[in-house]
Amino acid sequence: MEDSRTPLNDEDHKANSCPLCNIPGQEVLAEFPRWRLARTKTMKQHRERLMLYFREHVKTLDEQSIGEAYMLLLTIGRRYFSYTDRWAVFEPVYATVPDHWHRVASDLDPSSEDYEQILKTPRLIIHTDQMTIDRAKPESLEGLPENPSSAGQQRARSS
Ligand SMILES: [Zn+2]
Repeated sequence: MEDSRTPLNDEDHKANSCPLCNIPGQEVLAEFPRWRLARTKTMKQHRERLMLYFREHVKTLDEQSIGEAYMLLLTIGRRYFSYTDRWAVFEPVYATVPDHWHRVASDLDPSSEDYEQILKTPRLIIHTDQMTIDRAKPESLEGLPENPSSAGQQRARSS
């Protein structure tokens, strides 16, 4: 509205109104060359609920960057979620800031405020002791046939 001829200003404006871009430095738990780690604004009764977000305001990332983010989250989660036997990284289907790439991780406390939503969210469940990873899909999709080739690679069940 102010000046539509300069896309750069528009970018700035978008970034400035973004909650993730505006997380104050003192709330950042860890800094990485391309990422920042912070607690989520609402903990939803979890003891720990974290968010890893890309430093720049971008909506989508290339596959390698996403892989990097998940690897970082696994390393981070090992420390932050050592109090619980399993925790999860969630797909952003209910993300409140869909325009800025991030992933939320939390414990799986059934008494947490968002536990019902957790069950509806595609997620990777990490078992703390063995560091094994299970992929969980929303219950409504559980009955659907899986693609055998990708399911075999994604699953790392211990039993
Ligand atoms: Zn942003």
